[in-house]
Amino acid sequence: MASNAQGEQAAKPQIQPCRYKTGKTLGAGSYSVVKECVHIDTGRFYAAKVINKRMMQGREHMVRNEIVVLKRVSMGHQNILTLVDYFETMNNLYLVTDLALGGELFDRICRKGSYYESDAADLIRATLSAVAYLHDHGIVHRDLKPENLLFRTPEDNADLLIADFGLSRIMDEEAFHVLTTTCGTPGYMAPEIFKKTGHGKPVDVWAIGVITYFLLCGYTPFDRDSNLEEMQAILIADYSFTPLEYWRSVSLSAREFIKRCLTIDPQQRMTAHEALSHPFVNDEIREREGGREQGGDLLPGIKKNFNARRTLHAAIDTIMAINKLREGGGGGVDGGGDECGSEEGGEWE
Ligand code: ADP
Ligand code: MG
Repeated sequence: MASNAQGEQAAKPQIQPCRYKTGKTLGAGSYSVVKECVHIDTGRFYAAKVINKRMMQGREHMVRNEIVVLKRVSMGHQNILTLVDYFETMNNLYLVTDLALGGELFDRICRKGSYYESDAADLIRATLSAVAYLHDHGIVHRDLKPENLLFRTPEDNADLLIADFGLSRIMDEEAFHVLTTTCGTPGYMAPEIFKKTGHGKPVDVWAIGVITYFLLCGYTPFDRDSNLEEMQAILIADYSFTPLEYWRSVSLSAREFIKRCLTIDPQQRMTAHEALSHPFVNDEIREREGGREQGGDLLPGIKKNFNARRTLHAAIDTIMAINKLREGGGGGVDGGGDECGSEEGGEWE
């Protein structure tokens, strides 16, 4: 819009020449495209989150917030993505972070040969430890979900990294009203977010409960036909460990862990630190009570459930993308072009 462009000009943002060359697309989020990039001087590889300024219109605070949060915490914990650089060009904002070469959490699980409850517990422990660190620093992530959990490398023992701090907020900062309820699915959101009675640290523990449920069966606990029904189910924590065939071999301690996360009253819910000492994520207790392969291989059931839903969601995503294009007059994330020496096709070697 013309008025917006004038506003940007008036603000005179710092425009710098780009010191990176971008390559293939690694992923796309609600308001950004993430591309592989190489620093021209050092030859080092990174990930660049490219955000088109035209797409931002009014949502600049989300990027600024992500930068502030990442700067504050990104060096301090091995399970949090490190922010390396930040700059803007005429049309885009660039957040340069470490490259997570191991892919998204769930894709990785699906590629494994076998997968046990103890593997899920390890992943949850890593996530919780980063979340407890964030909470100790007064930061709530607010957008924890499998797509925002990435592996650092393709190796088996790779660190899991929390990415995407776009919605997180530093708690003592003057509250800004993020569009929590309008972006994405409500799937991982805590009841108090819909009730507008709170969005503090407990929302992350709720999300961890949903992620844990998902990691054990391949579908989310409040999955319904519409967002409205899903939200209504969340408000009364209407979920169960069914169909039985996918839950039969899941331990009581895992179920109890989920229950303590999916507790409606945020005050009664476990804290991240309490969750870290729960038997479900405690390796020694697990070893004592039957070993790592107890409960059997969960992978066949998970893959089946996940693929069934992925097909459905892909169809919904396509419809949403079409609607978005119609709304925005065709301006995609890359609408302004990548001014950072992009190599079309993404090959630079
Ligand atoms: P958004 O805020 O738009 O959701 P994200 O930060 O979640 O953006 O990134 C979108 C997707 O891009 C992620 O789900 C992931 O697949 C991919 N991605 C993000 N950061 C990295 C990274 N550092 N390395 C590799 N892939 C990444
Ligand atoms: Mg994301």
